[in-house]
Amino acid sequence: MGKRVVVIGGGITGLSAANRLVELSSEKKIKLDVLLLEGSNGLGGVISTKKEHGYIIEEGPDSFITTKPWALNLCNRIGLDSELIHTSDKNRRTYVVHHGKLIPIPDGFMMLAPTRILPFLTTPLFSWSGKLRAALETVLPRKTDQRDESLASFVTRRLGREVLDRVAQPLICGIYTADPETLSLRATFPQFLEMETKHGSVIRAMLKDKQISKGLKNGESGARYSLFVSFKEGMQTLVSTLASRLPQGTIRKNQMVELIHNSLKSWNVITKSGDNLSSDGVIIALPSYQASKLIKGFDPSLASDLSKIQYESSAVINLAYNIEDISHPLEAFGFVVPKVESRAILACSFTSIKFPERAPQGIALFRCFMGGALNPEILQTDDPSLINMAHEELCELLGIVSKPLLKMATRYPKSMPQYKVGHLELIEGIKEKVNKYQTLQLAGNGFNGVGIPDCIHSGESAAKNIFYCLQRKSV
Ligand SMILES: Cc1cc2nc3c(=O)[nH]c(=O)nc-3n(C[C@H](O)[C@H](O)[C@H](O)COP(=O)(O)OP(=O)(O)OC[C@H]3O[C@@H](n4cnc5c(N)ncnc54)[C@H](O)[C@@H]3O)c2cc1C
Repeated sequence: MGKRVVVIGGGITGLSAANRLVELSSEKKIKLDVLLLEGSNGLGGVISTKKEHGYIIEEGPDSFITTKPWALNLCNRIGLDSELIHTSDKNRRTYVVHHGKLIPIPDGFMMLAPTRILPFLTTPLFSWSGKLRAALETVLPRKTDQRDESLASFVTRRLGREVLDRVAQPLICGIYTADPETLSLRATFPQFLEMETKHGSVIRAMLKDKQISKGLKNGESGARYSLFVSFKEGMQTLVSTLASRLPQGTIRKNQMVELIHNSLKSWNVITKSGDNLSSDGVIIALPSYQASKLIKGFDPSLASDLSKIQYESSAVINLAYNIEDISHPLEAFGFVVPKVESRAILACSFTSIKFPERAPQGIALFRCFMGGALNPEILQTDDPSLINMAHEELCELLGIVSKPLLKMATRYPKSMPQYKVGHLELIEGIKEKVNKYQTLQLAGNGFNGVGIPDCIHSGESAAKNIFYCLQRKSV
């Protein structure tokens, strides 16, 4: 075939796309020139692992879910199986901040619904009227129309306001750093809608779900931690392994793409440094507002749709302390903070409890999240102030009596897409407009999932579509 495909963006989406193109070219014995252009000096986008003084510090993502198969499948293909590690099998639970104290999410409470009676009845997290309201979920009639609705609407309708404010908002919206009043349930957790439609009740459906029952037997609550894995040496392993497999010359760093032109037979990719690269196919593997800028010149309507997907910013603060200076027993993987508690931290992972090898012996490593749709103003503060706020809240909540041994703040400006009510319709419209071009593909976290497996799937699907399209054209 002897054709060229340019992949724009060297995050996990772009790397997966480039890798899949190279795999297909080798499997089908069809020559293909793949070029990956990355605007910065590094690869991996928001994935970044730092190793220092015996710590393995994740600045961005720290694990991925295995129920969506694409990341695991990729690991199998590129020989990373033996590098995978599971979360610790102890303490698989989450605390919630409740009136300034850490209270465990009751055993059997999964994301937004209780599945065990006694722990739910005895938890101080909800009032008696809140508990009664949640229990009514099992007998409430199901919604009959299929219209999209927000997480807030769904949870208050089925389980009541207390469940939303105290657990569902911090646990679910924490994943998307989103506002529950606008987060589309159909685009983020369609399984809950399906549970209502099929079983008439989320609680009853969860009780029947075998995977959830398995987690419950192992004492899990909150998120389903048994389903998450990482790499012994951190998430960067995936990035460096993918990069090392690409043929020499494939990756060009410090190549910020500014524009794309579309001519009848090919594409022209123009970089900030003035290069004009001609290409038979283009995969844009960027956050959608960045893709929008590149597309504006030749398709303003598509660009306008892409710019409608909003992105929120966040900061991750890594802090470490001597365990002997912490009075709290840390019998969980972390805590989440409901908006109603009005705190600076949105959530905190007890990194060295979740993955014990991440900190030297005798030291606890924490990862705190700040910002997001519900507290964007906090990010106007400088790094030392963010670190200080996180430190002070950890001292108060965990009984820490010393200064941090390690402190690190990393900012993620406009990195988390907000899947608002109507997101799926917006994406359908975007797909229709992109389909017109055939040799242009859009991939990334703005469309059908924000997690690493989703991004890999998105990049690999884009690669497959372009590969077969070019193959058809050359016959
Ligand atoms: C703080 C944080 C924690 C997260 N935690 C988890 C987690 O634990 N598990 C999980 O599954 N997911 C997690 N996610 C989500 C997931 O990590 C991201 O959705 C995913 O990594 C995005 O990858 P991407 O390649 O699509 O985009 P990005 O990582 O944003 O990569 C885009 C790349 O394109 C480059 N670029 C931008 N513009 C241009 C241009 N014009 N020309 C050339 N290059 C350009 C950028 O420099 C960047 O390298 C987290 C996200 C964040 C922000």
